[in-house]
Amino acid sequence: MLTMTGLTKTYRTDSVETTALDAIDLDIADGEFVAVMGPSGCGKSTLLNVMGMLDSPTDGSYVFNSKEVAGLNETQLADTRKSNIGFIFQSFNLVDELTVRENVELALLYHNIPAAERKARVERVLDKVGIAHRAKHRPTQLSGGQQQRVAVARALVGEPKLILADEPTGNLDTAHGEEVMRMLRQLNQEGSTIVMVTHSPAHADFASRIVNMLDGRILQERRRAA
Ligand code: ADP
Ligand code: MG
Repeated sequence: MLTMTGLTKTYRTDSVETTALDAIDLDIADGEFVAVMGPSGCGKSTLLNVMGMLDSPTDGSYVFNSKEVAGLNETQLADTRKSNIGFIFQSFNLVDELTVRENVELALLYHNIPAAERKARVERVLDKVGIAHRAKHRPTQLSGGQQQRVAVARALVGEPKLILADEPTGNLDTAHGEEVMRMLRQLNQEGSTIVMVTHSPAHADFASRIVNMLDGRILQERRRAA
């Protein structure tokens, strides 16, 4: 699915230079479930943002679906992203002014899908994550666990090959965190490739591979027996 070679990301402000990613080599195959762990500030979110083409590397190579991402212009990047990648964030990032259904539908608006099919797809994913009965609610009327299910639905509705989740259980209590993890595991079993950042060793154990980062580098990788 993707290969990073010598991938480096440096942030520059007036006075400081931060190397968020320091020559990362990483290969992720179709169907993998990878957990990324490491202390705060070690570059996990930057890695996911570059992987998801929300941020561009400073140096090195990033090949996604056999294409060098560095060679893509803004439009091509956006097209590649929306047809391949779904994001789930710690803070849900839902639009409070929109209903659950509208929040999920929003993710499809730039997809050129006829309205009827769009509606059908939204209903299908709401049903899949078990939140269809709250379709007309606003995010603020839902529990954290329910909001994250909506965010999972939003990530899924574009039928992405790759799901990127940055501390998806970070704002959830134990029970709701487990529920989101079971949902991710099911999606992986159905064929989605998943890369997830987590601080929880228990949640990392849902993954088939654990990548440990420190100071912008990959310290250690561990594959789990299935
Ligand atoms: P993590 O997700 O592991 O906590 P991040 O990827 O968010 O770490 O950050 C890695 C490093 O890059 C940190 O030192 C952080 O301060 C820095 N950083 C992240 N984003 C920016 C930015 N937009 N501008 C400047 N520095 C940044
Ligand atoms: Mg982070």
